[in-house]
Amino acid sequence: MPEKEIIEPPVQPVSPNMANYEQEYKSFRWEQVLDELSGFPGREGLNIAHEAVDRHAVGKKGAKVALRWIAENGTSREFTYNELKQETDRFANVLVKLGIQKGDVVCTLTGRIPELYITALGTLKNGSVYCPLFSIYGPEPIYQRLSKGKAKVLVTTETLYRKKVAGLMDRLEHLKYVLLTDVEKEQNDHIRSLPKLMGRAKSSFKVVATAPEDRALLHFTSGTTGMPKGVVHVHQAALTHYITGKYVLDFHPDDRFWCTADPGWVTGTSYGILAPLMHGITNIVVEAEFDARLWYSILEEQKVTVWYTAPTAIRRLMRMDIDVRKEYDLRALRLILSVGEPLNPEAVRWAQKTLGMPILDNWWQTETGGIMIANYPSMPVRPGSMGKPLPGIKAAIITPDNKEAEPALINTPGDSGHLALKAGWPSMFRGYLDEHERYVKCFANSWYLTGDLASRDEDGYFWFVGRADDIIKTAGHMVGPFEVENILMEHPAVAEAAVIGKPDPMMGELVKAFVTLKSNFEATEELNLEIKGFARERLGPAVAPKEIEFTDELPKTRSGKIMRRLLRDQEREKVEK
Ligand code: AMP
Repeated sequence: MPEKEIIEPPVQPVSPNMANYEQEYKSFRWEQVLDELSGFPGREGLNIAHEAVDRHAVGKKGAKVALRWIAENGTSREFTYNELKQETDRFANVLVKLGIQKGDVVCTLTGRIPELYITALGTLKNGSVYCPLFSIYGPEPIYQRLSKGKAKVLVTTETLYRKKVAGLMDRLEHLKYVLLTDVEKEQNDHIRSLPKLMGRAKSSFKVVATAPEDRALLHFTSGTTGMPKGVVHVHQAALTHYITGKYVLDFHPDDRFWCTADPGWVTGTSYGILAPLMHGITNIVVEAEFDARLWYSILEEQKVTVWYTAPTAIRRLMRMDIDVRKEYDLRALRLILSVGEPLNPEAVRWAQKTLGMPILDNWWQTETGGIMIANYPSMPVRPGSMGKPLPGIKAAIITPDNKEAEPALINTPGDSGHLALKAGWPSMFRGYLDEHERYVKCFANSWYLTGDLASRDEDGYFWFVGRADDIIKTAGHMVGPFEVENILMEHPAVAEAAVIGKPDPMMGELVKAFVTLKSNFEATEELNLEIKGFARERLGPAVAPKEIEFTDELPKTRSGKIMRRLLRDQEREKVEK
């Protein structure tokens, strides 16, 4: 257990929405949150897009900027809440015209472009299910997700379609339409021009009166054993998006919020789109990828007040020798938050020194739908700790020996065990798509097992210890070893493969593969490069192994299961030496 180091929370020019954590935790009721949302006037039901867009568009906020998009070339485009309503209504009408119904899955495969935001919200308005895909994936992960999700519509760009999807079309029997965002001419009955369709669609739409338990979002996440899992969320998740926006991101009406997450991951949806819009604030969207100077300029020029980013990016900023507060005017910035992987205490201290405030770490995962454990603007920061459970969330450290019985809680401060959450919060996933068994396995009686190991200190702060399984977190992205091993095994030279996360100072972990070769192949540098290239082409650079080590044998259990953990421990030891 680290020494008790405390940094005071950043001084705020506004009163934090949650002034006293302990008090709020005690009195909080989820039902109260509904009073702060609008539901449907005169109707039963809840729809995320109605809460995020329409209820602001009809009121005083109609003329307020909802989205400010900064393109890669530096130009920008704004959408007021009113305009966003019209555009998302148009997209919902496009879906209706194409015969896409409630519950049908609509995917995006794009970078951060306006069409992604319009698609996501328009899909929800139509009662369809929105599913983002990571644009850096190679064809294989894209195929897995589109086919498993039985996606009916894919919105993408012409280049991404040509490079990654065109070759899969024969195998995607459910996919009815590909809508290209940057093509003016209709291609054929299935490959259509989104601008053309939008141009012909009406700009008003009556949001489908979805029920709180209707499916809304589908996010794919990696598992240790099988192929990716489709994590299902319902419209009621809006309650978590809203309340975390209020208590953790501390949204106030004049905020300008920037979430740097890629829209292909859950953070990019829950916080890159939904939570800020639900609060009627201005959401800054930056198309370009990481660049330290560009990022600081954006913070300055856009007068960002609340900034949500990730440890990998922070570590990259730390590496640069920039006297930030001298070179940039960041006076508007009042909160910096981070999620996705462990945030080194060093990073929290660096931010305090360089940016004038500590970074507030928080923890959650695809399955939880929203932030569950956090450092709050009114609570002292313990560098290295993820913070305390959100009001309405019961978190515990447990030993899940017997999944049928109520698990034993570990109450001794500092002792680590499995991090578990009492089931039943609004954004808890409602299942893994078509994999009920896998879903049930995540619970020990009434507790959801997160797959993470953690401990809690005597003051109630939670500390991340590690994953309880073999999942890899590289640059904040989940990678399932099985998915990578499968592709490696398709290379003619590969006999067996074991994929692990190797500690890396910048990316947290990097994907490393141990490979045994078939007898007629020689372990040469050339072959190593060739296999790496093969994997990169199929899986994309975010998932493919960065390192491959040839070995004569892989460690196995008696029953023949590859012991990835052993390889991982060996790598850790090597790095620590
Ligand atoms: P994902 O489902 O891709 O969002 O990944 C969720 C996983 O990322 C968690 O189960 C953790 O293993 C890790 N993670 C997320 N946030 C944190 C954090 N603040 N500290 C440590 N690990 C984190």
